[in-house]
Amino acid sequence: MLILQLELWLVATNTYVVAPEAGGPAVIIDAPPECFEPLTDLLATHDLTPTALLVTHGHVDHLGGAADLVARTGVAAYLHPEDDFLARRPEDQLRVLMGTVPPGDYRPPETYRELSDGQVLDLAGLRLGVVATPGHTPGHCCFYLAEEGVFFSGDHLLAGSIGRTDLPGADQQTLMTSMRDKILPLDDGVTVMPGHGPSTTVGRERRSNPFLIGL
Ligand SMILES: [Zn+2]
Ligand SMILES: [Zn+2]
Repeated sequence: MLILQLELWLVATNTYVVAPEAGGPAVIIDAPPECFEPLTDLLATHDLTPTALLVTHGHVDHLGGAADLVARTGVAAYLHPEDDFLARRPEDQLRVLMGTVPPGDYRPPETYRELSDGQVLDLAGLRLGVVATPGHTPGHCCFYLAEEGVFFSGDHLLAGSIGRTDLPGADQQTLMTSMRDKILPLDDGVTVMPGHGPSTTVGRERRSNPFLIGL
């Protein structure tokens, strides 16, 4: 198993490349703006061919590079349809996040395949479970490699923190319900790879994340 990570764009979003091994197909998780060149360099270093782009949620820092990546590599993009309203209006998000729209192309892909809770995606020789975790956004999804015990948590769960719930479409109570029902049942040893910041484990977060205490 190969899990490669890049921290990209203005808000240091993690993008992941996952593959059974070097020299074969790979899945990309999240596409920050301007991700094409750094991702292509990383893929080439490991002789990987991307086959799919899984997008955790419709925020521009995770999706803003997707149209360009899809157009130039031909990968199929996957997004939960409940985040379509965010994906279609990246400029609105940038104004809320930064108070301005930095020059760039932030469009979502013209088309994408729809994610749904409980789906199992067989992609690039990987079995990825789709775990819908609404709260940070209505269509937020995490991706779970159950056999390897690796959980890509997007902006739902971060090391020592949780995703923001002060942005349009977010809801803290919904996020906490998702956390209790979808994350806390996972084993302590599961590795959590978030959309920002360092990786962690379910056990470490269960014990020390102040937002999870009492859930
Ligand atoms: Zn987000
Ligand atoms: Zn983010």
